[in-house]
Amino acid sequence: MAHKVHIPTPLRSYTDQHDIVEVDGTTVGEVLANLATKYGDLRRHLYTEEGKLRSFVNVYLNDDDIRYLQKEQTPVRDGDALSIIPSVAGGVGTATPTPPVELPALSSEEIQRYNRHLIMPEVGMDGQRKLKAGSVLCIGAGGLGSPVALYLAAAGVGRIGLVDFDVVDHSNLQRQIIHGTPDVGRPKLQSAKEKIQAINPHVRVDLHETQLSSTNALALFEPYDVIVDGTDNFPTRYLVNDACVLLGKPNAYGSIFRFEGQASVFAVKGGPCYRCLYPEPPPPGLVPSCAEGGVLGVLPGLVGLVQATEAIKLVLGVGEPLVGRFLIYDALRMRFRELKLRRDPECPVCGDHPTVKALIDYEQFCGLRPAAMPAAAAASATPTRSEVPEVTAEDVKAKLDRGDDFVILDVREPHEVQICRIEGSVVIPLGQLPKRMDELDRNRDLVIHCRSGARSAQAVTLLQRQGFDKAVNLKGGILAWIDKVDPSQPKY
Ligand code: ZN
Repeated sequence: MAHKVHIPTPLRSYTDQHDIVEVDGTTVGEVLANLATKYGDLRRHLYTEEGKLRSFVNVYLNDDDIRYLQKEQTPVRDGDALSIIPSVAGGVGTATPTPPVELPALSSEEIQRYNRHLIMPEVGMDGQRKLKAGSVLCIGAGGLGSPVALYLAAAGVGRIGLVDFDVVDHSNLQRQIIHGTPDVGRPKLQSAKEKIQAINPHVRVDLHETQLSSTNALALFEPYDVIVDGTDNFPTRYLVNDACVLLGKPNAYGSIFRFEGQASVFAVKGGPCYRCLYPEPPPPGLVPSCAEGGVLGVLPGLVGLVQATEAIKLVLGVGEPLVGRFLIYDALRMRFRELKLRRDPECPVCGDHPTVKALIDYEQFCGLRPAAMPAAAAASATPTRSEVPEVTAEDVKAKLDRGDDFVILDVREPHEVQICRIEGSVVIPLGQLPKRMDELDRNRDLVIHCRSGARSAQAVTLLQRQGFDKAVNLKGGILAWIDKVDPSQPKY
């Protein structure tokens, strides 16, 4: 009996881009095993080397989380559909923060401004005053942070905090709508504050120009009612989650990748947290980031507004928060799905007997830094990449000029190659490399590159294991090549 299996965006390059595939089997375990047989490249993403299902891969049967059951033995019946939901760079008590005893008054200008709120019974004068007394901290002033901050300001949330230390780059403008072309090169916080205050001068904007860390997170979060997670990396996600659970602050979570978005509200009393969903992060490099995989420009707008909506509902104390529910949005099919999510009583942070009682080293937790390496030394090092042999763009240019015998392998996707390429390179996308290795000669020198050097480092490791001893990584990828050798080509 064939069953439908929903494949998430990050794994579709291993299923020939199919988002739904049909696989036989009578139990969840059988269906997954058959899936890994049908699409061999998927195996290492789903299973550990010992053949166990990876802990960051969650499986849903007809929108139900089956993790706490004997999931692989769960029978699959006629018409059942499975969904694989990996973590992506993504019974409820009341979520209402305790309102201050005295709510602030609204000026007549504010009463005019918020007219469309004031005439709704769910908001009204009291609700608008709650919003004015409310505070939201937005982690990141990027793709998700842009719509969140703009709409919360317009809606009259009295205090908005922003945490970011980046400057505006040209590549941000496709989706980070709080920043404009004249802002390129300026700190994101400055640019964001100006836009917010232009929309609503009644909002107090707190700027935290710093990298969120285990040492500053609790103090930064403490004054705010709701935390909005707009981060783009796993260490910060786990950090935001744990800090929210420890402080008892709701975490309006959102994540985006290509055409797919996820949203939920974590860390509300009685509800699950991000760690209940994903106890462990994926191994470094296995799940691509937006910088590597791309993201549709409008996607963070929609997902960010789900987060902003939840933040406003939490401050107002109205409606049904997105707690215990995991929303998945597929822009390509224009489809929303909602999966049930339970709090895990065994969760190390929010469970009945928590083992994590203070913030930890999240870089280490996510495998980005060996346990022994002190934080200061690791700040400048990139251990996952430096383990493989590297050459610089200048070295490669010199080899070309000398007429050395070597092959340049480009492991980017074909649509990236259309933007820029190194003349004469062979193109085999990373996902196809395992089955196309035989197209390469083990005895020749091989320089491998991608966009920035991360995927090609994985390719070098992969090839070395198969006896390609002469494979080296082009440090900094084609971006370094364009910077140092061929500035005539566009960067992306
Ligand atoms: Zn939890």
